[in-house]
Amino acid sequence: MAVYTLPPEMMYFFKPNIEFFTEHGPDPDKRKYVDPHEAVRHYIDIDTWGEYPFPHLPRTWIGVMLKYAEINAKFEDTKMTLFSPDINYFSGDTLYGNTVICSFQKYYEFIKDTIAKNILNGEMIFPIDSVSKWLDMDLSMFDGFEIVVEEHFSKEGISPYFLYQYYYALVNAFEKRKPKSIIRRANDIGHYIADASVPLHTTKNYNGQLTGQKGVHAFWENRIPELLADEEFDFFVGKAEYIENIRDFFWNIILKSHSYKDKVLAAEMKVRNSFPDDKKYVFAERNGVVTRLQSEEYTRAFNRELNGMVEKRMRSAIKSLGSIWYTSWIDAGQPDLKDITDISWTKKELEEMKKIKNADKNGTFHGREHWD
Ligand SMILES: [Zn+2]
Repeated sequence: MAVYTLPPEMMYFFKPNIEFFTEHGPDPDKRKYVDPHEAVRHYIDIDTWGEYPFPHLPRTWIGVMLKYAEINAKFEDTKMTLFSPDINYFSGDTLYGNTVICSFQKYYEFIKDTIAKNILNGEMIFPIDSVSKWLDMDLSMFDGFEIVVEEHFSKEGISPYFLYQYYYALVNAFEKRKPKSIIRRANDIGHYIADASVPLHTTKNYNGQLTGQKGVHAFWENRIPELLADEEFDFFVGKAEYIENIRDFFWNIILKSHSYKDKVLAAEMKVRNSFPDDKKYVFAERNGVVTRLQSEEYTRAFNRELNGMVEKRMRSAIKSLGSIWYTSWIDAGQPDLKDITDISWTKKELEEMKKIKNADKNGTFHGREHWD
């Protein structure tokens, strides 16, 4: 649906490749089986970090790492924490850590240029000499150690930070006019935007597990759309619009989603308690497995109680995605896409895609249950 929000110059490229999105939309979920860093991109448990609208939560990844990174000196089994959220004390331009002091400016540059550059690219380990130089600090007492940077932030989800960084990967693909990168990144960012548009992707109570409402996640994001979206929802959302502030835009999706969270849980609780138990579930085949699903009547009752919320969030996701595609193309200088429309994948690429498609059948799941 997002393709139909685009201007003709973009339609040249997106329309002939529309099947790619249909087929590969779920790929990022499949990647959770092969990449341990994938899962946290799909959500943020924002209520871990305070109360709506979360004024103390930094909106930039640099800000997050400045606040939450833990800098350790490590040698075999010995670990000593030099800087951490519990230890750090700022005074003027000085940062006081555990037995060490450095200039805040140097620390900021270290975080910005080295730590926060790429979100989650594996372990962050540095030679002691380099860190000593970067921070302009005497670390000779840790001779033989290495510096290991850890953080306990990202396990609660990084959706808006990742979206912001990934947006520029899409701009870059447009700038270079690389059709395969464009289509892959356009596809993946669609998945992440859709996830961010789901209220239960923004809370630690993501599956109602803290309030005795297990199953509410799939009830909202799978069962309602699968029964009602095609026939009864209206997905005409108008034209894609240019977005002035990308970061605010992604944050607003998250905050809006989160503002619906209590309503989702209240609606589920209400139908759960009022709907007759023997009419709640049916058995149906899913991918060759017989599964228990919410009955049509039960699903309709939940949808009624939600008062159009699922449709509204789906519409918002479509419009957001179209506008993000459009804005990234404009920001890349409106490259001509006419002559790069035909994409032919190599045999190797097709095999690689097939592997991802079937990853859920073979791989080990790195993530948590029921929150696709
Ligand atoms: Zn997902």
